[in-house]
Amino acid sequence: MKYVDEYRDPQIALTIAGRVARNVTRPWVLMEVCGGQTHTLMRYGIDELLPKAIELVHGPGCPVCVTPLEMVDRAIRIAELPGVIFTSYGDMLRVPGSRADLFEARANGADVRIVYSPLEAVKIARANPDNKVVFFGVGFETTAPANAMAVWQAKREGLTNFSMIVAHVLVPPAMRLILESPTNRVQGFIGPGHVCAVMGYQEYDQLAREFHVPIVIGGFEPVDLLESIAMLVAQLEEGRAEVENQYSRSVNYEGNLAAQRIMREVFEVSDRKWRGIGSIAASGYRLREEYASFDAERVFDLKDLNAEEPKECISALVLQGLKKPVDCSAFGKRCTPVTPLGAPMVSAEGACAAYYQYRRHA
Ligand code: SF4
Repeated sequence: MKYVDEYRDPQIALTIAGRVARNVTRPWVLMEVCGGQTHTLMRYGIDELLPKAIELVHGPGCPVCVTPLEMVDRAIRIAELPGVIFTSYGDMLRVPGSRADLFEARANGADVRIVYSPLEAVKIARANPDNKVVFFGVGFETTAPANAMAVWQAKREGLTNFSMIVAHVLVPPAMRLILESPTNRVQGFIGPGHVCAVMGYQEYDQLAREFHVPIVIGGFEPVDLLESIAMLVAQLEEGRAEVENQYSRSVNYEGNLAAQRIMREVFEVSDRKWRGIGSIAASGYRLREEYASFDAERVFDLKDLNAEEPKECISALVLQGLKKPVDCSAFGKRCTPVTPLGAPMVSAEGACAAYYQYRRHA
């Protein structure tokens, strides 16, 4: 299959890994930003193919993993209200809140439905005018256009029974937080290919310049990632810090301008709390005032909920590249994909789940 087979070719992968091994002269710490990239790196054993001098750490780019605990609690509280039809992508249903998850809420009688797009939730609202239909809008810039489109469509149709929990987060402010930290170890980033397909990569120029850090916008197949690593190592060894685009078959500098337009129409940038990490300035989206009646948090007024992370969970350190999942004392014992303590063990894109699934602990 074009654009898949050649990016999974073992011979090409070995050739690139050989190039990395020949070029590297000292240790470098690289972070892949996206959970999808983490998953590929583990699945294909790319971390084990690289010379020991290259250390890969795993970034905060798994949207399920960074959705705050109290947001999950809030979603459960809303789902449990009479007359509410709560809709979400499937992976959010298993994310543990402080006392339960949405699956449990459903088992206890809440009307919780899995949908495959936010427009499906709008359709449910249209078909059920006597119910309040809520969509759990989680994700990075990648999913924001579809969520914006759903709210825009609901407004256009005059639907008064549709609302959305907006839990969108943005990648560049999280990278900035990592780079500003006095304990930062990351020397080069594999940038988020899917996010940049929407947003372009002009925002990353400023980060590369300000922190003198190379960023290579990377794809999601094994050869994409190896090529991105080779490009980063070349930059680091030559003392360059530029933004380069490995994923040029999907990403251009400006991004998808039509998608950005609908996002700007419906959302505005706001401070946002990240699970385990805390609040990051200007790191998320909220609905603009003109769309306030579609904001589920205002409609249901549940802002007072606060929740504590399980003490054992070190996901904040994992998501900033300061620790590996296997450094967590609960990993593979009290925390497994069947009994997750923290969100990185729930989502297929979470670093802890990827380590567990591909037996990096064995
Ligand atoms: S293994 Fe579980 S408890 Fe440990 S950091 Fe990962 S999600 Fe948290």
